[in-house]
Amino acid sequence: MSASLTDAKSAELYARAVQRLPGGVNSPVRAMRAIGRDPLFVDRAEGAELFDVDGNRFVDYVCSWGPLIHGHAHPEILAAISEAAARGTTFGAPTAGEVEIAEEVARRVPGIDMLRMTSSGTEAAMSAIRVARAVTGREKLLKFSGAYHGHLDGLLAEAGSGLATAGVPASAGVSASATANTVIVPWNDGEAVVRACAEHEFAAILAEPYPANMGLVPPFEDFLQLLRNQADATGALLVFDEVISGFRVGPGGAQEREGVTPDMTVLGKIIGGGLPAAAYGASREIMEHVAPAGPVYQAGTLSGNPLAVAAGLTTLRLLDEVAYARLAATTETLVHGLRDAAGDVPVQIVSVPGLLTVFFSAEPVHDYAGAQACDLAAHAAWIRALLARGVYAPPSQFEAWFPSLAHTPEHLERTLEAAAAAFAEVKG
Ligand code: PMP
Repeated sequence: MSASLTDAKSAELYARAVQRLPGGVNSPVRAMRAIGRDPLFVDRAEGAELFDVDGNRFVDYVCSWGPLIHGHAHPEILAAISEAAARGTTFGAPTAGEVEIAEEVARRVPGIDMLRMTSSGTEAAMSAIRVARAVTGREKLLKFSGAYHGHLDGLLAEAGSGLATAGVPASAGVSASATANTVIVPWNDGEAVVRACAEHEFAAILAEPYPANMGLVPPFEDFLQLLRNQADATGALLVFDEVISGFRVGPGGAQEREGVTPDMTVLGKIIGGGLPAAAYGASREIMEHVAPAGPVYQAGTLSGNPLAVAAGLTTLRLLDEVAYARLAATTETLVHGLRDAAGDVPVQIVSVPGLLTVFFSAEPVHDYAGAQACDLAAHAAWIRALLARGVYAPPSQFEAWFPSLAHTPEHLERTLEAAAAAFAEVKG
């Protein structure tokens, strides 16, 4: 039986929104076009639950696309933000919190001794690349097809066919010259990496160690080590973009779980605890290239903002071993339950602790081409059916679900019941 949503107030807001905001939104995936419907406007959220302006209640697996590892409106995080705000919202001068969060991050993340904060992951990735170019004196970048590192011009490039293709812009308005130094290689293709490294002198090999922007496509065993070896052998810096995986898959991110330490790390999302903050970090030797310690200029009016730092620091301090074990168990329960619920619907359910993707594919998905070959129409229908049953999951096949520490067994039960009914509906 199909279910449906009341969305009159969202529809009214959307009609106004499209007059003033391109596509009605401030970031594209919110528009829900991939699942063929208009967006729902949020009224409020608490823990793992989201309430829209029409009064619908959802179990939320978007969780702002990653920052909210403790769920929405966590009381300790809200209190930290309020306390910080009462002392002033921004100074453009250093604060104690910035030192504390830098110390906390350096303690957790193997590849970071020193860091610089920014306001978005895009800025952090852009700045890391600038530093990598300054350190190596080289210009070219190796990027993986289907990887996303923010909307900076030079990385808005995807693979054409072939193993290592010179980047072709993936967005209008990006000049060919901006992506000319970007070489694209398929994820999990070791031979293509070796060939590209033999052919080009890279400043950086840039990777999401657990890519989650083509859906979640973890690395083959030893693939990250191969990247490390190629970087070492050819003089490139290995840059891990842990904007999603950082502090989520474990205290020290994917690099700690996989035992491969990059030269530079890009962080975002969780480090800001739901407020705008991100960072890039590395060894002291590399980071002292950044102004005013060194010649690489990079700055920001709101960088290290005291509210974002308070939210981030509180978020990190709440992430102890017990929390990570619980998030891993929550993820496992979802994965097993979704597998059962799918029955004979051909899906691949891929996960690491704190992240999962349901690929509508009979074949395992190892790279972007595999993700693109999924049954996107069936996925869209399933997500719409989930939404109608009170489960708000990422409205695109090329994204991961973000379970949080606020998801209780009751939320999981509700989710799996809805999932079974949604799979049955998709099957027809
Ligand atoms: N890198 C990765 C891996 C991301 O997933 C994202 C955003 N989802 C970014 C960079 C860009 O971060 P922001 O949206 O904060 O600019």
